[in-house]
Amino acid sequence: MLDSKIPAGPLDSKWTNYKGNVKLVNPANKRKLEVIVVGTGLAGSSAAASLGEMGYKVKAFCFQDSPRRAHSIAAQGGINAAKNYQNDADSVYRLFYDTIKGGDYRAREANVHRLAEVSTNIIDQCVAQGVPFAREYGGLLSNRSFGGTQVQRTFYAAGQTGQQLLIGAYQALERQVALGTVTMYSRHEMVELVIIDGKARGIIARNLVTGELERHFGHAVLLCTGGYGNVFYLSTNAMGSNVTAAWKAHKQGAYFANPCFTQIHPTCIPVSGDHQSKLTLMSESLRNDGRIWVPVKKGDNRPANEIPEEERDYYLERRYPAFGNLVPRDVASRAAKERCDAGYGVGSSKQAVYLDYAAAIQRYGKAEVSKRNLGNVSTEMVTQLGKEVVKEKYGNLFDMYAKITGENPYEVPMRIYPAVHYTMGGLWVDYELKTTIDGLYALGEANFSDHGANRLGASALMQGLADGYFVIPYTLGNYLAEDIRTQSIATDHPAFVEAEKKASDRISRLMSIQGKQTVESFHKRLGKIIWDKCGMARSEEGLKQAIEEVQALKAEFWSDVRIPGKINGMNPELDKAGRVADFIELGELMCLDALERNESCGGHFREEYQTPDGEALRDDQNYMYVAAWENKGEGWELHKEPLNYEIVKPSQRSYK
Ligand SMILES: Cc1cc2nc3c(=O)[nH]c(=O)nc-3n(C[C@H](O)[C@H](O)[C@H](O)COP(=O)(O)OP(=O)(O)OC[C@H]3O[C@@H](n4cnc5c(N)ncnc54)[C@H](O)[C@@H]3O)c2cc1C
Repeated sequence: MLDSKIPAGPLDSKWTNYKGNVKLVNPANKRKLEVIVVGTGLAGSSAAASLGEMGYKVKAFCFQDSPRRAHSIAAQGGINAAKNYQNDADSVYRLFYDTIKGGDYRAREANVHRLAEVSTNIIDQCVAQGVPFAREYGGLLSNRSFGGTQVQRTFYAAGQTGQQLLIGAYQALERQVALGTVTMYSRHEMVELVIIDGKARGIIARNLVTGELERHFGHAVLLCTGGYGNVFYLSTNAMGSNVTAAWKAHKQGAYFANPCFTQIHPTCIPVSGDHQSKLTLMSESLRNDGRIWVPVKKGDNRPANEIPEEERDYYLERRYPAFGNLVPRDVASRAAKERCDAGYGVGSSKQAVYLDYAAAIQRYGKAEVSKRNLGNVSTEMVTQLGKEVVKEKYGNLFDMYAKITGENPYEVPMRIYPAVHYTMGGLWVDYELKTTIDGLYALGEANFSDHGANRLGASALMQGLADGYFVIPYTLGNYLAEDIRTQSIATDHPAFVEAEKKASDRISRLMSIQGKQTVESFHKRLGKIIWDKCGMARSEEGLKQAIEEVQALKAEFWSDVRIPGKINGMNPELDKAGRVADFIELGELMCLDALERNESCGGHFREEYQTPDGEALRDDQNYMYVAAWENKGEGWELHKEPLNYEIVKPSQRSYK
């Protein structure tokens, strides 16, 4: 039976009461306790820095050459917090409510409320670190809107919020490295988890430069290893993002929750050909000011600027007048797909819709004329002034679009299409962020998170930093307080020897296949199966086929993959082979999870279950639970964590 350990008491006092009663570890004992943190993106850096500051002996690992290269650095648009700086009726409750509703009522109330509560602390913490959030003229921090909300609560640093937040967390981390509380192991990949007497006690890491396997002990292990969107091959994730650490934990007993809940982001640069290996996000922040449309006429091939206003269909504004272009991502993505499938798509592939800044440029231009008291000016001048404002707000995103497509988004509407972006599924964790393995925790995108079946924009950074700066410093102590008498375990313990042998045997097996096909080709084929059959739309028939196809692909991989190079030394092909092998297994579980969930909710859209106007049709009677999968060697067993809504009353989501 899964115990989510949600504290008793009223929702808004649970976290306060928990903190007030949590067991503590005294400073002298903290110095004796070792903690392994795998991953140094926003979740891992903030956790490692905080735990180091508290006095624990921390070892932090990442596979990049520097923590600063974690995928988190790519985050563009912003981070949410219930500060209500705009005086637009925001509150902790409203952020909580929006997140529960945005996730289509498939997230835990207690966790989400805690997230909303600590959101305000995150902004204070980051400002104190010197994170350069955008400010209003008078000096106050500026805000913008993201999807699924009607308030402005998103804090941002131009289109580089993740980068600035990560530099803040990295500085805090490096300070601890300098003080000696944190030891940093970059270019190290965790390839096995070590369990002793039922508790996570260490990891086997591969030094990606020398190829050597290393044993590392920890009283507890934290996985902050990010999401698995790259299972789809084409995604907006960093190329190195992978599921391996979480998957190793899963194979050793950590349940994997809601693996089929993946997020397709509506505003990405469309796929342009067969040889592409990466997709690029155009931040959701662009939906603040950009208007999304397609031609009213099917197959209209005129250039966008030649299509008159009355022949444009602003379909989000038409279908969802209350939220307009700022509906949540799942809703916006499905609406784009619907238009394209119906023949209204634009561009050469016809798999794109327009994101248009012409109206915003005029609006901002006129405001500038008025602000500067310029009187009667030419239309060109208004346009010029408007472009300058847009440039200040979104300049780096516009530059990126221009570089990739060769088109000038200040002059012609951008073309966008949905793409894989984020994974709401991940390792199952209780209220304390502990997995089903004692002493093993998961933070950030690596856990099954607080976002239910659909994450609202700007809330992943919030969750990762909440987990690292404000949650784990309390909950880990609650566990380690019981462990203060445990001495460091020597790494010649049989469990370490056995785990290293397992990792070594697997690597040797991979290298010995010497087949004919590249790792990349397998990854691409896997991505196509998962995208076609477990992507934006899913059906029973398609999922059953996908499971068979993935199983066949797995057999083929293990008999015909070719990995060049050597084991001892740097070998990125070998690194990638291990990750793709794990993605293949995960792919099967994703399809199984999607097949088992006979309803549509959030990003999980089963074609058989939709309302008459094409919205996701939930089945709360039978599926209001977290699906937590236990690995059984050759298959999986499903455990269900029921979701109880005490405060919010689940209803059909409406953004109309
Ligand atoms: C283009 C883009 C833009 C985004 N913009 C926003 C935004 O504006 N707002 C928002 O809220 N969210 C945004 N997101 C989502 C957000 O960036 C991520 O969810 C978040 O950064 C994940 O942080 P993390 O710390 O959990 O993981 P990551 O940043 O992915 O870090 C993972 C870490 O784990 C390490 N690691 C992984 N596996 C291993 C292993 N086996 N061994 C050792 N180390 C390992 C990596 O080296 C890395 O250090 C965006 C995402 C993308 C793709």
